[in-house]
Amino acid sequence: MSETNPRMKGAMLAEYIRWFASNYDSEHVRRFVRSDGLCIAAGLDADRPAFGIVPSEWYSTAVFHRLLDVAFERMSDAERAQCIDRSTDAVSAQLIRGLYAVLFALVATPDRYSRHIQRAWNQLHDTGAREVVVAGDHAMSTVRDWPGHHAVLCTMVHSTTRAIFSRMLDRPVRLERLRCVSDGHPDCASRLIW
Ligand SMILES: [Zn+2]
Repeated sequence: MSETNPRMKGAMLAEYIRWFASNYDSEHVRRFVRSDGLCIAAGLDADRPAFGIVPSEWYSTAVFHRLLDVAFERMSDAERAQCIDRSTDAVSAQLIRGLYAVLFALVATPDRYSRHIQRAWNQLHDTGAREVVVAGDHAMSTVRDWPGHHAVLCTMVHSTTRAIFSRMLDRPVRLERLRCVSDGHPDCASRLIW
């Protein structure tokens, strides 16, 4: 079923929702959750922290796509880019400290990260082929065959890889977006430079 109904892990969704609620006015997102049939069917509760999302459960990616659309609809491109950078920094740090500490310990160098990226990805997404190839002072990061794709979510995925590399290397890492299926390309790719 995952090809027709791709899913994401509640743990990550809950962290993003919590982060957004404590950094932005999210009343319009709350109102949306209260009225949207898909959110209601998925068990989201607008009045609970992180909309009641259960970290260990899987949720239709379409739910997160809708929340992203609503959360970002009032932002300019620059505001959205800044929000994505800040949120992926914060959420990846939170996941690394919390539930996924053991997993991160396993992949804590760029070389190991590139070897285990698919395994790490599969903890949070049930579709999508992920690859990170390290070469000297840069890495190529790609996602393909991902029915759960959404343009903003894709940017968040690449920005998360930037945040994790920056943490592993303990220095700033620059993200250069190269391709996205939203622009008609067959896959989504970016280059990380440090
Ligand atoms: Zn993409």
